[in-house]
Amino acid sequence: MTEQVRPATMEKIAALSKRRGIVFPGSDIYGGLANTWDYGPLGAEIKRNIKNLWWETFVHRRRNVVGLDAGILMHPRVWEASGHVQNFNDPLVDCRTCKARFRADHLIEERLGQQVEGKSPAEMSAIIQQAGLKCPNCGNATLTEARQFNMMFRTTIGPVAETGSEVFLRPETAQAMFVQYKNVLATGRVKLPFGIAQIGKAFRNEITPGNFIFRQLEFEQMEIEYFVKPDGGSVAFDEWLDAMRGWLRLIGVRDEFVRVREHERDELSHYSSRTVDFEYRFPGPMGWRELYGLANRTDFDLRQHQEFSGEDLTYFDQAENRRYLPHVVEPTFGVDRTILVALVDAYDEEETTDVNGKPDTRILLRLSPRIAPYKAAVLPLMKKPELAGVARALFDRLQEEINALIEYDETGNIGKRYRRQDEIGTPFCFTVDYESLDDQSVTVRHRDDMRQERIAIADVPAWLVERIK
Ligand code: ATP
Repeated sequence: MTEQVRPATMEKIAALSKRRGIVFPGSDIYGGLANTWDYGPLGAEIKRNIKNLWWETFVHRRRNVVGLDAGILMHPRVWEASGHVQNFNDPLVDCRTCKARFRADHLIEERLGQQVEGKSPAEMSAIIQQAGLKCPNCGNATLTEARQFNMMFRTTIGPVAETGSEVFLRPETAQAMFVQYKNVLATGRVKLPFGIAQIGKAFRNEITPGNFIFRQLEFEQMEIEYFVKPDGGSVAFDEWLDAMRGWLRLIGVRDEFVRVREHERDELSHYSSRTVDFEYRFPGPMGWRELYGLANRTDFDLRQHQEFSGEDLTYFDQAENRRYLPHVVEPTFGVDRTILVALVDAYDEEETTDVNGKPDTRILLRLSPRIAPYKAAVLPLMKKPELAGVARALFDRLQEEINALIEYDETGNIGKRYRRQDEIGTPFCFTVDYESLDDQSVTVRHRDDMRQERIAIADVPAWLVERIK
């Protein structure tokens, strides 16, 4: 599909999300709070499906990856050791005229198409000066020099702010895996190479406009720290590169809108010897943006935590009879960006006719059944007790036999009900009509091509399981 015929726009995705209860603006009745979003009834289901599938894929199905569920608050020294206190900064410029604030790197990337990750604020200020960049808000050439701004949220432990101790809300889930690495090892279940996986909230004081749920103050990450022998980093890196590609296919994201971008030397983070970004081509002006990251973090984190905590974090390799600090390869997945990409990739519009034969646009989400909020809907053709009885019985049976969410809807005309299911990505509808009373069959209607077929009611659960697993 070319860009011209891909009908998704960020505006349409945001509107559909609000209309159908996928994502709401945070604190909506108070006018919202910038860059915060809440998942509604259907969004909560999509999110759970994605997290469960990820956990099944990368923890349950891999014998050498174990899970962790750590706290958001950690000892402040953790963030000194990790480099976040020193390095987790965004270069910001302010406008002297209208007081708006911008990321200097984003301004340069957007206006000049130049990658500046890794450059100092002074270097960025020079680029802004030279190109005569103006404030995107008011248009005046009154931008300040770029300054570093730490992106970690702070809070205090203790009843009185002034005397309490300052702590940070974690800006990534990764550090807990390093901090608990020794305890995980001591449980005796793991040997190199092994991974520790975690899904959880992370917080960043982002000032850039968010592009819907792409960039939020509070978001979720799914991360794995994969510990390997000191010379094992590059092999593990390639394996994880493939595994990440496989994951995107598993959730149904089309290859053509995904690319893998290698970080240049001067763009690499302070801890990394090699990093790639998985980028997705969003519609419209957003274009290619980071979806996931994969980094070879070397032994940086364990070395730092060993030094800052004073604990020996070396690994004893029995086969080689020696101690060393493992190296770490880190695949990192944003939950929210996964949801966004799944929605954008699945969104489609088709020109068709409505029940009265008038031209109409069918909006549908071609979501993979694995992540669709409802796996199926049971619909009595009309709201009549005799039909409802059969439909309810089928619905109850599906609920009992299938560990997934099923929809039941009996109000409004059947065409409208199908359209509603199309818009929320329900892959199959089972319709009970008067014939069903005689032949004990239902019509299955397929979301993607509106094909209809007849199957025996008794076969429905097995038929569905086959298609959603
Ligand atoms: P960006 O350059 O877009 O700010 P990043 O390089 O800082 O992202 P990482 O630190 O690599 O991101 O974070 C790992 C993953 O967490 C990202 O690939 C992304 O999926 C997700 N992520 C990071 N920041 C946010 C955010 N503010 N809102 C939602 N997801 C985020």
